[in-house]
Amino acid sequence: VNQFKGKHILVLGLAKSGFAATNLLHTLGAKITVNDASPEGDNNDIAELRSKGIEVICGGHPSDIMEKGFELVVKNPGIPYTNPVVVEALRKKVPVWTEIELTSCLSEAPIIAITGSNGKTTTTTLLYHMLNIGGKQPLIAGNIGTVSCSVAERASEENIIVLEASSFQLMGTETFRPKIAIWTNIYDAHLDYHGTPEAYRSAKANITKNQTQDDYFIYNDDQSDLREFAAQTSAMTIPFSLQGRKETGISADDEWIYWNGEPFAKRSIIKLPGQHNLENILSATAAAILMGCDKAAIEDVLSSFTGVRHRMQFVKELQGRMFYNDSKATNTLATKSALAAFTKPTILIAGGLDRGHSFEELRPFMTNIKAVVALGETAEKLSEFAASCGIVDIIQAKDVKDAVQQAYPLSVEGDIILLSPACASWDQYSSFEVRGDQFIEAVMELK
Ligand code: ADP
Repeated sequence: VNQFKGKHILVLGLAKSGFAATNLLHTLGAKITVNDASPEGDNNDIAELRSKGIEVICGGHPSDIMEKGFELVVKNPGIPYTNPVVVEALRKKVPVWTEIELTSCLSEAPIIAITGSNGKTTTTTLLYHMLNIGGKQPLIAGNIGTVSCSVAERASEENIIVLEASSFQLMGTETFRPKIAIWTNIYDAHLDYHGTPEAYRSAKANITKNQTQDDYFIYNDDQSDLREFAAQTSAMTIPFSLQGRKETGISADDEWIYWNGEPFAKRSIIKLPGQHNLENILSATAAAILMGCDKAAIEDVLSSFTGVRHRMQFVKELQGRMFYNDSKATNTLATKSALAAFTKPTILIAGGLDRGHSFEELRPFMTNIKAVVALGETAEKLSEFAASCGIVDIIQAKDVKDAVQQAYPLSVEGDIILLSPACASWDQYSSFEVRGDQFIEAVMELK
């Protein structure tokens, strides 16, 4: 049955996902009003919505909009719960959903949902490739790919939806029940949106709240918070751990990946660098095994996948130097995992937007760093920090391209040249993607 037919729905926020949800709900016969805070300008897509009989209100959130008697609000995940319309909807006990709830209502395809503070995109991508090579017809959805309700629209029972789910998305769920849920790790992030660490955790906990014994919950067993949380879920729990061979779940030591205590794949075939990526590999592998992928398909990905663009992405080897693009590392936590991934002498290119943060957290990981090329607003601060770590070769560059050109002559065969800025890009670039692309381009131009 189509629960949306004739339903009076408010779509809040007209980004890509808002448009997709509106069009989809319209096709299903819902009566929709769309509301966005930005002025509409001459947006053709809005004109098109109106031509279909959809009411569009732009340029603010009218305080009385909830008087229209909506039965459901579908909200863009970026709109905070302090937004007056959302507050009023909740006061009136009108359900407030994000698009992943819509996705699960609209699709028969099993969903594998991936959440966590770090590693979501990498794990999602790894798993997508494993399922794809394993012949399982996966569709990728959420933050990294296509808007998830558009994916739900075209998915059949044969497909598997691999969904990257942020805590913002998970807050607006009611019946959402993934066949497999993966919780990669938990670090206190996004406190500005959620207010407290508890609120953040409880948003993420929604990933498993409707799961039953027939579903799986894959989690990081090396984090005590998650271990305790897993003990309370109703799903079948699948722990992953880097602390050596374990009898249950998926685990790893220096030589092997183990599945329920049995050797499954050799560590030496893995291309993706870093302990943190090994965590991502373990959880993706566990999910692929549970979905019936054969070992050959999984090994194929382990031996070929070199990283998601801008996330510890292997770019090129030139004259024995290896170049890595980790432009996505916009904070010291991410750069810390990047530095921990390499044992060879490394030239670190870092710096960017100054949020008033210190680089102190990187200190224990600076031992393999032979030179630092500092850029952006934090260039000075980073140079001082590098000097205090005993690094002699410290250069300041005007941008990433200049940094690559200055880093190369400092390197010798066997070195790593790594862009992992530990800072956001907005002082000089419109996004970390643009920053990373400039790095790749500059590396490709080196002679
Ligand atoms: P997300 O999608 O959760 O932001 P990504 O896969 O895009 O995560 O990785 C972002 C950055 O976080 C990477 O550049 C890496 O430095 C770091 N990272 C990735 N996976 C992990 C992990 N399992 N644990 C800790 N840090 C990680």
